[in-house]
Amino acid sequence: MNIDLHTHSYYSDGVLSPKEIIHKAVNADCQFISLTDHDSTEGLVEAEECANKFNLNFIKGVEISAKHGPYSIHIVGLGINVNNKTLIAGLEENNQFRINRAKLIGEGLQKVGIENAYKKASSLSKTKYITRTHFAQMLVMEGVCHNMSSVFKKYMTGNKPGAVKGEWAKSEDVINWIHSSGGLAILAHPLRYKMTLTKLKKLTRELKEIGLNGLEIVNSYSSDEDIAIAKQIADTNKLLYSCGSDFHGWPNQTVELGKIPKYDYGKNFVLNYL
Ligand code: AMP
Ligand code: MN
Ligand code: MN
Ligand code: MN
Repeated sequence: MNIDLHTHSYYSDGVLSPKEIIHKAVNADCQFISLTDHDSTEGLVEAEECANKFNLNFIKGVEISAKHGPYSIHIVGLGINVNNKTLIAGLEENNQFRINRAKLIGEGLQKVGIENAYKKASSLSKTKYITRTHFAQMLVMEGVCHNMSSVFKKYMTGNKPGAVKGEWAKSEDVINWIHSSGGLAILAHPLRYKMTLTKLKKLTRELKEIGLNGLEIVNSYSSDEDIAIAKQIADTNKLLYSCGSDFHGWPNQTVELGKIPKYDYGKNFVLNYL
């Protein structure tokens, strides 16, 4: 079974429409798919309608940016109700910050001679959503950097000119929004945060205490060892397992929708609880 519970459309930093995401899922022989745009549920109705036409099981999702102590983390909500007022108000808060941040990123880049970055990055987005990915793609297209990861290293993180501290909602609030809307809260790509394993274990324990339900233990390029590490952290904290490619679809990216390492999740698989 191909199952992908973490993907992006152009309602955040992906390139494809929600419909195109579903077509990709059908072509990749997915049995279950979730669209999980950053801080946005705008693509879910279109995706669900299209999935229904293909008899593809669709799970409404969202990937919410959150602050936990000094860390910016991503919490995926699966099985959410997009009409829930608490969730809507929460996402609105994050998007206010997102817009202000984009302008500040533009100002930061201006200081090192990169002109009109905000305008150029915005024009790469087909929707009102603007993310660091749009800035990164723009700088790659302009030849300022060779690839996305060098943009993040040189311009968008730490004390670099286009880095802005992530004033996202608090992790406990984000988990509450997801729960209020009937969803399950999953820590996305646990091994991708820049922190030691000890800190990741502490982070996961703290998130469990405030209601986290699961951990994404398989992503696109997870090695067997990565999966084993993540599974152990999930087990220690009695968390469910989730999985997803984190597909965005930019031409210079190699992640494929629906293509993640095969794994036998057993009874703790999040799908059994949705
Ligand atoms: P934002 O939500 O605007 O802060 O943007 C975060 C997004 O940027 C992530 O969801 C990734 O898609 C992308 N991203 C973050 N770090 C990197 C990196 N080192 N290389 C490529 N993409 C990245
Ligand atoms: Mn992204
Ligand atoms: Mn993420
Ligand atoms: Mn993602």
